[in-house]
Amino acid sequence: MANLCMMRITGLLAISSGLVLLLSCTPRSGVDMILTGGTILSMDKYLAPAEAMAIVDGRILAVGTKEEILTLGTWRTKRINLRGAVVVPGLTDSHFHFRSFGRSLEELQLVGTRSAAEIVSLVADRAQKLPAGTWIRGRGWDQNDWELKTFPTSTVLDQATSNHPVMLTRVDGHAIWVNSRAMNLAGVTSSTLTPEGGAILRDKHHNPTGVFVDNAADLIRKVIPSPSKEDTRRWLLAAAQRCLEVGLTEIHDAGANATTLEVLKELIDKEQFAMRYYGMLDGDDEQLLETYFQRGPVINYGGRMTVRSVKLYADGALGSRGAALLQPYSDDPENRGLLVTSQEELESTVTRIFQAGFQPCIHAIGDRANRMVLDVYERALAPFAEADLRPRIEHAQVLARTDIRRFARLGVLPAMQPSHATSDMYWAEDRLGAERVRGAYAWRQLLNTGAIIPGGSDCPVEREEPLLQLYAARTRQDISGWPEGGWFPEERMGGLEALKSLTTWAAYAAFEESTRGKILPGFDADLTVISVNPVTCEPHLLPEAKILMTIVAGQVIWHDKKGFRDLEHGHPPGSTTSTPPGGSSDE
Ligand SMILES: [Zn+2]
Repeated sequence: MANLCMMRITGLLAISSGLVLLLSCTPRSGVDMILTGGTILSMDKYLAPAEAMAIVDGRILAVGTKEEILTLGTWRTKRINLRGAVVVPGLTDSHFHFRSFGRSLEELQLVGTRSAAEIVSLVADRAQKLPAGTWIRGRGWDQNDWELKTFPTSTVLDQATSNHPVMLTRVDGHAIWVNSRAMNLAGVTSSTLTPEGGAILRDKHHNPTGVFVDNAADLIRKVIPSPSKEDTRRWLLAAAQRCLEVGLTEIHDAGANATTLEVLKELIDKEQFAMRYYGMLDGDDEQLLETYFQRGPVINYGGRMTVRSVKLYADGALGSRGAALLQPYSDDPENRGLLVTSQEELESTVTRIFQAGFQPCIHAIGDRANRMVLDVYERALAPFAEADLRPRIEHAQVLARTDIRRFARLGVLPAMQPSHATSDMYWAEDRLGAERVRGAYAWRQLLNTGAIIPGGSDCPVEREEPLLQLYAARTRQDISGWPEGGWFPEERMGGLEALKSLTTWAAYAAFEESTRGKILPGFDADLTVISVNPVTCEPHLLPEAKILMTIVAGQVIWHDKKGFRDLEHGHPPGSTTSTPPGGSSDE
């Protein structure tokens, strides 16, 4: 079958299946790189999986058979034998907290800890190594994972250290647990008023017990010395390095501050930033918004950075019962959760965002928050009927059944994180009850209405590896395979859908679908090379699969040479199957 597909040098894109296009103008010096001997999943329904491809000037030149592609090589062409590995468009995480992730790489990692006591000993350990007075920070605790499922207290944490202030962020980022030293520094006492949109847990004498939810956490955060620019630089570089190792070529940063953007720009100017970055401005920073709204969107700065969206919040999270529900929590009948921004305020901000040519990305977890945001979008979109605005709801986690079809109808993108379902499934039904939980993490119901789901991790809330998101999307099981058959398995994604959520759909959510998210001539040569075929392999192979190579703009940034050698000594199952993406039933 002749299906060579090539870019014309005029920039005209020729996409075809079964049609050979002669190069009207082969680059005189030949192509930069040729990859052969693998399976190339273009993610384009008209292009069957190919075995080879060619790259020139950071872009894809051609996709086709080995014979066709080899004719494009010259003496200077770098040749890569894929040894049966699978090439997919560069994986993109469309909800990531980039700077916090970099910082978390330096913090105490508390995900998976089994008790408060275990955490106390980790903190005590760290305290030994740090000068008195230094803040000790950690992240990832979840009292739902402990035998004793009540919130922990400052008294417990005081056992670890009284010389260091300690602040430990809950796994969902919506609550913090601190020691007495931290509360003293913040001047928090029994007479401290609870801020709107927040909660301070207290004992019967009204004394704060050490856990601060949502907006109340600012009482503590504001006394932490702010990080230096050098801290930020170190964090961003560490985050990028790790992202590239796990196969991510791009992330959508769900809330960037001014320093992050400034440092990123400097790194890009010095050619020290290898991956792609799609930034959402921190919507709480009015000055930042003002600056960017006047200047207009930044598109593909230095070929690396786009800033054209704004992150806003409608409510909190489900785990800490901060998500705003239409009806009370099933396990807390007095509580309907918290809206952190009013409808009027959201609507006026969203209108300003549209007028400035930016994209709103609003965090909404509970069904009340989601309905409010859909209402806001519906009204704010009306005057812009002709415009292509692609507003997003981040998480879209719990939806009233009647609201599900509104996403596709309004053109609102539900940006969802598959592993939230598999992290929350142990207790989500307690919070929501048997009926309401059916509208939670409702991927299939959304897809059935014609919506697309840009996928992501919410890292560092969840782990950074995109293969774990593909696994969760296809199985709705945890890593141990629980529950058998999957949690509400009717909501699972197919293999192709799961991969689209991290490629084509993520690209669409960033207005980048004409250059990224597919392997087509003319597109950016952003590629992830995987040891298995993520569309057709048994899903349980995904968590163990290897990211063999990460390529950005035609440059090999990550290369697992040992992984490639292992491939030669026997392919892992699933790595050589070649069901055409277009032929799969879950299109
Ligand atoms: Zn987030």
